[in-house]
Amino acid sequence: MMRRFQHYIDGAFEDGPAGFESLDPATGEAWAIMPEAREAEVDRAVRAAHRAFRAPDWAGLTASARAKLLHRLADLVERDASELAALETRDTGKIIRETRAQIAYVAEYYRYYAGLADKIEGAHLPIDKPDMEVWLRREPVGVVAAIVPWNSQLFLSAVKLGPALAAGCTVVLKASEEGPAPLLHFARLVHEAGFPAGVVNVLTGFGARCGAVLTSHPKVAHVAFTGGPDTARMVVRNSAENLARTSLELGGKSPFIVFADADLDSAANAQVSAIFAAAGQSCVAGSRLLVERSVKDAFLERLMAKARAVRIGAPDDPETEMGPLCTARQRDRIEEVIAASSAQGARLVTGGERVGEAGFYTTPAILDCSEAPEAPCVTTELFGPVLSVLAFDDEADALRLANGTDYGLAAGLFTTNLTRAHRMTRGLEAGVVWINTYRAVSPIAPFGGHGLSGHGREGGLAAALDYTTIKTVWLRTSDDPIPDPFVMR
Ligand code: NAD
Repeated sequence: MMRRFQHYIDGAFEDGPAGFESLDPATGEAWAIMPEAREAEVDRAVRAAHRAFRAPDWAGLTASARAKLLHRLADLVERDASELAALETRDTGKIIRETRAQIAYVAEYYRYYAGLADKIEGAHLPIDKPDMEVWLRREPVGVVAAIVPWNSQLFLSAVKLGPALAAGCTVVLKASEEGPAPLLHFARLVHEAGFPAGVVNVLTGFGARCGAVLTSHPKVAHVAFTGGPDTARMVVRNSAENLARTSLELGGKSPFIVFADADLDSAANAQVSAIFAAAGQSCVAGSRLLVERSVKDAFLERLMAKARAVRIGAPDDPETEMGPLCTARQRDRIEEVIAASSAQGARLVTGGERVGEAGFYTTPAILDCSEAPEAPCVTTELFGPVLSVLAFDDEADALRLANGTDYGLAAGLFTTNLTRAHRMTRGLEAGVVWINTYRAVSPIAPFGGHGLSGHGREGGLAAALDYTTIKTVWLRTSDDPIPDPFVMR
């Protein structure tokens, strides 16, 4: 029996005009029918969000009342955490260990922004005119189009919905066409939490007929997008139609830098987590290992042993450490890039093989790229468990290699030398630098990148302010008639 999921538009659940099959990446078999939103559904969802934005049951709520709704949503996410985790694992192949831990933490994002809702303050200005009071109101920007990629959809939508709703915006959330099940279930929690109809709408569909229509819709004020740079370019072009603001969280080719003075065991564990956790399908994957030449061989030995020991298996088995890739297309692309890189002189030292007949499995791959520093595996985001290794001689060399990309999302740095850590941090062109750790996140800490990795920050207070606009209010306090009407005051 195939499971069926529904859209959530204007407070109601519906099937949509068409459906498409979702595949279980562990078996390659279809397991559910997803509703496909097209132009008409997107238009209805945006108009519902626009109506809700002005309606008294949302616009008239105090910030504290919005906070209560967000707290209730967090409670429901916690209550349904195992169901949400199981759906995400089933629909995307992400291992159950990770989905359980991540979804438990998703609730914290909603709580953090619930706490921030009544701390988004305006200001009073010491204006240079004695008969005037001037103050600033921070107001919600309007309808937010939130678009997420297939990996970590609950997490990537929480970092958008949390601040947007705390600020008083309304949202149309587009789940990825790959693995939308957890977000379509999440819509039921939004409904149960008691958000007024139209405040949050959740749908899924494909790029041209859904994503493009949503991002260019005249009633959308802000597009919060997470995905790849090529799609982001289309999103920015679309936003030329409605002149919506954009915040873009895109991909990366993040360097993971290991100095000879580092704790190599600890660094090796972190490198495994950086590139093989989530089967490398993570925007912050530390996919370029830059290691000081004197310890390169010793470090590679450690890494190869760890890579070969990674337990590959069914994503719903709690013992599994690496599950399948999300799609067959993704696995095929990785194989092509490994082959092209090997042809250019990169040496595949382990992995890169298919596992089993069914599902989209591949083994953790490491390529020594000393002889091929420009190979495609070094320069392209692969979004898979593939590590490219380069050696460096000193700090300047490490920085040159680390910054030798148009991306700028994250960087990992392993050293026990404090002054070096500071010098390197200053030089690294990345939105997030992790020193002697990797892949740490928190709702309290801003996250984002620059260059091809996008712009804008998610997490922290700044993210909530991003969903607001400033209204400047002038009040004349004098009862005297306005003097000269032909002079600017
Ligand atoms: P993608 O760019 O193909 O798709 C992302 C979303 O955009 C999907 O929902 C898709 O349907 C939608 N879309 C497609 N065409 C569109 C259009 N013309 N207009 C509007 N929307 C459109 O990305 P993906 O393959 O699903 O995910 C992988 C990418 O996401 C990687 O590059 C990864 O690094 C990035 N990512 C970034 C972060 C981050 O926070 N920086 C986090 C996770 C993933």
